[in-house]
Amino acid sequence: MKNCISILGSTGSIGVNALKVTENLKGQFRVKYISGYNNYKLLVEQTAKYKPEFVVASEDNYSKIKILLKKEHVKIIAGDDGLMQACQDFEVSTVVNAIVGSFGLKPTIYAIEKGKKVCLANKESLVMAGSYIKKLSKKTGSEIVPIDSEHSAMLQAMNGEERSSLEKIILTASGGPFRTRKGSLKNVTIEEALAHPNWLMGKKITIDSATMMNKGFELIEAVHLFDISAENIEVVIHPESIIHSLMQFIDGSVIAQMGLPDMILPIQYALTYPKRHKLKLPRIELSKLAKFSFFEPDRKKFPALDLAERAAKENGTMPVVLNTVNEIMVYKFLDGKINFTDIVKNVEKEMDAHSNNSKPTIDNISELSDELWKKLN
Ligand code: MG
Repeated sequence: MKNCISILGSTGSIGVNALKVTENLKGQFRVKYISGYNNYKLLVEQTAKYKPEFVVASEDNYSKIKILLKKEHVKIIAGDDGLMQACQDFEVSTVVNAIVGSFGLKPTIYAIEKGKKVCLANKESLVMAGSYIKKLSKKTGSEIVPIDSEHSAMLQAMNGEERSSLEKIILTASGGPFRTRKGSLKNVTIEEALAHPNWLMGKKITIDSATMMNKGFELIEAVHLFDISAENIEVVIHPESIIHSLMQFIDGSVIAQMGLPDMILPIQYALTYPKRHKLKLPRIELSKLAKFSFFEPDRKKFPALDLAERAAKENGTMPVVLNTVNEIMVYKFLDGKINFTDIVKNVEKEMDAHSNNSKPTIDNISELSDELWKKLN
């Protein structure tokens, strides 16, 4: 029998690739739900092509989509209730959460509540509520499999290993578009910040890569996924983006995972984990790679890394502030309202002003996030 799957955020770059992966895995998966927020035209095209049973639209686009899809045999549902249904439908075994930003937290929790396998691209869920999510997933038996290329690498390196053998994680980073840029980043333009050297991604994550906040989020993500403290995770710049991360074990062995930078691979691995499935992508030719280089990150130029480490150590509601303020500021930067360096400066300011709640409930987390949106947006 085929696995029924819901792909949330199907119109984003991960979602589009996840749909392609389901084509490659046609014998194994049936797409029952897709959901998209802004790009309703693409959502309509995807419906015609992939024939899901349900489309989850945003409340705003619901009527437009309903008209455009009146000839298709598909049910259209909307908003939070729609997402909940996509995550909790008894037939659905796997939920791909590729929603952007803090909006992805609720669906992650809906799916975990019902013990689904969650292929998680929405790292913000783990950043905001990692401790809660891990506890809940233990209770319901839900399996969380990362789609993020670095965490997929970690998972692949851990295959067959025991957690007690793990000593340290080496998290690699491309360094983003400003790695070699001299001088202040204050006046970099939106276009410059969006020009990532190796990966083609959505705008939010591309800006997060330019500030290196994305790497900070990935550090917190790794803390929760692999139950390791932030002190035992080292961020290393690796501009070629071929080694996606490394695991160091208690005997000194280091296992790395390599691959050309293409998200199709980690998405497919998450869906088929712990098995592999054939994938026709270009292969690495080691003799043609001129060199592999590794550097320490410049923490003065990229203060987001220190802030994320601080949030990881303080835990509680501090990572909620890190994540939410960052998200608000990224959109302000993309709207031309603040400078590039103001993104992280404002995150630090709000973290300094925040009094940490060390054991927040999920309601505390959502309320804090909503308050910050109201206050700063
Ligand atoms: Mg990543």
